Amino acid sequence: MSLLEIRGLTKAFAGVTVLEGVDLDVDAGSVTVLVGPSGSGKSTLLRCVNHLETPDAGTISVDGSLVAYRRDGDVLRELPERAIAAQRRAIGMVFQQFQLFGHMTALANVIEAPIGVLGVPRREALARGRTLLARVGLEGREDAYPRQLSGGQQQRVAIARALAMEPTLMLFDEPTSALDPALVGEVLEVLRDLAAGGTTMVVVTHEIAFAREVADTVVVLDGGRIVRSGPPAEVLDDGSVRVA
Ligand code: ADP
Ligand code: MG
Repeated sequence: MSLLEIRGLTKAFAGVTVLEGVDLDVDAGSVTVLVGPSGSGKSTLLRCVNHLETPDAGTISVDGSLVAYRRDGDVLRELPERAIAAQRRAIGMVFQQFQLFGHMTALANVIEAPIGVLGVPRREALARGRTLLARVGLEGREDAYPRQLSGGQQQRVAIARALAMEPTLMLFDEPTSALDPALVGEVLEVLRDLAAGGTTMVVVTHEIAFAREVADTVVVLDGGRIVRSGPPAEVLDDGSVRVA
């Protein structure tokens, strides 16, 4: 059984279908790179997996906990609520815009949820937060505020913050798209390191060289459907698919 199993995921906004019967399996420890033209539904898919959007139909299973969505007349039932909370807890997400708390230091950003949500003792959260910041190359910048950090550094804090919740699955939505080109490499380096360490990840990116090097599977979304899926060399060298 895969760590993440999506079946028949369907989502419309105001009657316009954005995802249509998406099936996707992500194995534990694997890296899936999701590509596709702008507007093809990549962000919506990740947001559905994290239950930031409510799908119209389909099932999402994370680490054995299953959430089924269905239309019931006009009432959308999400079943069961407890599984949604469990899945949210199991998933870490990193956005294009880093969305750090601007009034909090790097370290404070990282320890906030472990203390507030998981109830980790402060001293333990601090020690772990420092370790995580070091892991993303930010040793010595613990006390910096987001405005004092470059975009690449802020994104690395955002990654450390997500990792602090010890997620079983990490979702990245265009983590380098908002960055100055000179800063893209340092963030991809962190992703590479996580992949090498066995972190299960789904990454939406236009960095095709990264996909080629790091992905186990490349999935191509077009018009809300998965049109191609397979090893990077096979998918990316197939001239018939639009990957960006
Ligand atoms: P991608 O990330 O591949 O560029 P998105 O998932 O962001 O694509 O968007 C897919 C489609 O859904 C687009 O046509 C977009 O305009 C539409 N869409 C996304 N979010 C919303 C929303 N909250 N309300 C209405 N339409 C939306
Ligand atoms: Mg998007």
